[in-house]
Amino acid sequence: MSFDPELATRAYMATLDAAARARSDAYYEGGYWLLLWGCVVAVASNLLFLQTGWAARISAWAGRVSAERKWLKSLLFVLPFLLLTTLITLPWTLYTDYFREHQYGLSNQNLLQWSGDFAKDVVINTIVGSLLFTGVLAAVRRAPRTWWAWGTGITIAGLVVMVALAPVFIEPLFNKYTPMAQGPLREQILSMARANGVPAGNVYVVDASRQTSRISANVAGLFGTTRIALNDNLLKQPADEVRAVMGHEMGHYVLGHMVTGIIELSLVMAAIFFITSRLVPGLLARFGDRWGVHSITDPAVLPVAIIVISVLGLLLTPVFNTITRIDEIQADRFGLNAARAPDAFAATAMKLSQYRKIEPGPLEEAIFYDHPSGHTRVLTSMQWKAEHLGQPDVR
Ligand SMILES: [Zn+2]
Repeated sequence: MSFDPELATRAYMATLDAAARARSDAYYEGGYWLLLWGCVVAVASNLLFLQTGWAARISAWAGRVSAERKWLKSLLFVLPFLLLTTLITLPWTLYTDYFREHQYGLSNQNLLQWSGDFAKDVVINTIVGSLLFTGVLAAVRRAPRTWWAWGTGITIAGLVVMVALAPVFIEPLFNKYTPMAQGPLREQILSMARANGVPAGNVYVVDASRQTSRISANVAGLFGTTRIALNDNLLKQPADEVRAVMGHEMGHYVLGHMVTGIIELSLVMAAIFFITSRLVPGLLARFGDRWGVHSITDPAVLPVAIIVISVLGLLLTPVFNTITRIDEIQADRFGLNAARAPDAFAATAMKLSQYRKIEPGPLEEAIFYDHPSGHTRVLTSMQWKAEHLGQPDVR
């Protein structure tokens, strides 16, 4: 009997009922508009700081209090600026992160729990953002023409430190990681890790159901903090599906996606900072008098830079998504080879359609998808299956 991957994929697609499909389509397509409105909110809130003269006034205050000591002035500007921005954009954040997630049944948090996590987020982002800005502005002062290269280096170094520290210092602030209970599934995951050279002596379970109903797993960390973790929503699924997902996650590790991802991100960052370094002086020449901001070394230049970076970030959405999506497709194929459970992986891809439109057009997938669509993943699984059907462990 012949096995047709296309037909098998159609059969999977047909298992998603019309109401569920309409809901996940609406959730995901709504996300396209959130990108645009998110950019509008960022531009508007930063423009508010400039047009009202707040940015110039905060900068003048920071200059007085710091007695014009450059590093301290940067810090004293950026701290209140970031906290005020958080406050001004709070309604937007509440809508996208809390109310909308509830509307689609994806959140397991009440408003109090959400606020607790949000407050921790704000503290971490404010600290990291302040240090980064202070460092980059120091580069602007020393190298007004080439700061974009130094700025990229500083930002990427900060990112690497964050990635390495996250499993140890940041993630435990939000969730509990406990070693997975002994049993055959744990042994299978560790065996797959050993077979593929993933350095892990333990598997952790993260209580993600505190926040969300989404299924997920990861291999996180860098420089010895590497850790395999799956979330408790995934653990409730059949063992084969857990293995299939863990195969995918190990693929990210084995294929070195953390390192290639950082290199790719550096290149895009460098391009963004370069364009910003060329546009901001022109904007200051044109609007600087109205804003009270005249020099790129004035900390009050930050909202101008954020406006430029927000617009560039929006325009580069397809680039960011495609960089990530290519890694994800590779990890999918790696996982199929490692776990050899194509139907389990297809079944998981169907479950992810809870929050990701299952069958987009090709252009839509290229622009908006940072992971392959459910349809692409099921088809990839079925193509793998078609090539392995004669083998004893593939039915
Ligand atoms: Zn992945």
